[in-house]
Amino acid sequence: MKPKTKVIHAGITGDATTGAVTVPIYQTSTYEQDAAGVHRGYEYSRTKNPTRAALEELIKDLENGEAGFAFASGMAAITSVMMLFNAGDHVVLTDDVYGGTFRVMTKVLNRLGLEATFVDTSDPDNVKRSIRSNTRAIYVETPTNPLLKITDLRAMSAIAREHQLLFIVDNTFSTPYWQQPLDLGADIVIHSATKYISGHSDVVAGLAVVKTKELAERLHFIQNSAGAVLGPQDAYLLIRGIRTLALRMEAHEANARAIAEYLNGHPKVKKVYYPGLSTHPGHDIAKRQAAGFGGMISFDVGSGEAADKVLARVKYFTLAESLGAVESLISIPAKMTHASIPRDRREALGITDGLIRLSIGVEDRDDLIADLEQALNG
Ligand SMILES: *Cc1c(COP(=O)(O)O)cnc(C)c1O
Repeated sequence: MKPKTKVIHAGITGDATTGAVTVPIYQTSTYEQDAAGVHRGYEYSRTKNPTRAALEELIKDLENGEAGFAFASGMAAITSVMMLFNAGDHVVLTDDVYGGTFRVMTKVLNRLGLEATFVDTSDPDNVKRSIRSNTRAIYVETPTNPLLKITDLRAMSAIAREHQLLFIVDNTFSTPYWQQPLDLGADIVIHSATKYISGHSDVVAGLAVVKTKELAERLHFIQNSAGAVLGPQDAYLLIRGIRTLALRMEAHEANARAIAEYLNGHPKVKKVYYPGLSTHPGHDIAKRQAAGFGGMISFDVGSGEAADKVLARVKYFTLAESLGAVESLISIPAKMTHASIPRDRREALGITDGLIRLSIGVEDRDDLIADLEQALNG
């Protein structure tokens, strides 16, 4: 099945009982049992719910995994995956991971004894150097947020195999439409489904897909024990979002390519970060491991004041956190999504006050470029 067909026909389609072409929203907490302990596959909705199960089956198919899991948020998915580890274990992570991932590792899970080292995973040698006797996993985001750095997934998977580590990938920015980390050697894929998977800025949700039966059993145990599950309404909205994932990702990408080129030639723009530009340091790796470069662009206008001016003038870019929806969004990572990262660390990473992040929507590209043009020249 080709990708465009897969997003429509993968998973569970329709309802066998009625012939409804969409999976119904099973708004129920519990299920009648035929006798004590004898049920029809469902006993309590924290453990399993038919709408959530349909979504889990769908994301499993899209990521080519063994089992899928839906959580109440991306952070719930990440935290649940981290519960696979024990006190005293150590994880090596990408240094510019999502701010919330950095926060949960350094302010919450550290208190439970899980150790973390953050390195620039775009250079595999940094990862090799940080592996210790208690290291249990490599955790990578690619492209990263907000600098769109690229990590070589095949190189990471080789390191993970050599040291018998779990290899975990946050695939939020690419989505399975462009990149399938499990096929490149990852063991677990995570999504903030709040972003492209939903695509309409109307759901907060997280997904995880695992490659083996053993991991599937362990993660289901955690999902059911810790209980950070996704409700049936939101599961339905994600299934609905996925059906147009191909159309949306193609449109985001075509717009983003044109806008990145435009910004790259603009005299007021100091630097553009977009993996689709041939000048981007990760361009060749991105091309090898993903079918597309995505819809996220960051660019530096040199100062906080210049960035504020652009923000104040744009009409079609909504000033908001989050990304990956049909409408274009604009943000200043240093003041918003990455504010929880200490300033010195932020600046060392390149997340300056003048850095603007765009989530390119699916509007007409000429309108978006004209809007940026008047905002930059204002
Ligand atoms: C938003 C985001 C998260 C967190 O997901 P939530 O749904 O907001 O909890 C994790 N990783 C990445 C890359 C994100 O963009």
